[in-house]
Amino acid sequence: MKKAIYPGSFDPVTLGHLDIIRRSSKLVDHLIVGVLNNSGKSPLFSVDERVNMLKEVTSDLDNVEILSFSGLLVDFARKHEVQTIIRGLRAVTDFEYELAMSQTNRVAAPEVDTIFLNTSLKYAYLSSSIVKEMAMYGGDISKFVPKLIVDKVYDKYNTAGEISTLKGED
Ligand code: ADP
Repeated sequence: MKKAIYPGSFDPVTLGHLDIIRRSSKLVDHLIVGVLNNSGKSPLFSVDERVNMLKEVTSDLDNVEILSFSGLLVDFARKHEVQTIIRGLRAVTDFEYELAMSQTNRVAAPEVDTIFLNTSLKYAYLSSSIVKEMAMYGGDISKFVPKLIVDKVYDKYNTAGEISTLKGED
């Protein structure tokens, strides 16, 4: 059975993440989406909220499982007997960091390999940080995150009202 882990913060999940999840779920028998519970960062959504959002938007994908983890990714991979990590690459800016991470992981766990999927062009610019920034100022994020997620992000910033007012004025 081919298994892989797609790790990330997913704060919140974007259409770019979902695209990588859908594409990688076709490459393996079982895909674990690993939601990082990182005490160093202060995320907008709690780890449970991020896990639940991912469960909702992947409910049609039978071979995808959503789990949270803390600590080292390679330890999480070993615990689940997974030898493949999947990461998305958007642009050269991602490359240096991703290369360093994958090489470090390989030293720590030589049996674990990292596979990079290039982003679909239409999501190449998309990041969770951009989504948060847009939502904070009441911008339209409906093209960036799955439908089920849109209001959850606005709720965090109490900006949903501004959006409906803007729409009402059209
Ligand atoms: P992290 O904090 O680990 O970078 P993210 O949630 O930001 O977590 O991203 C998780 C993974 O998804 C990373 O490999 C990242 O490069 C990839 N990713 C993020 N946004 C996109 C996108 N728009 N298209 C493709 N891959 C993406």
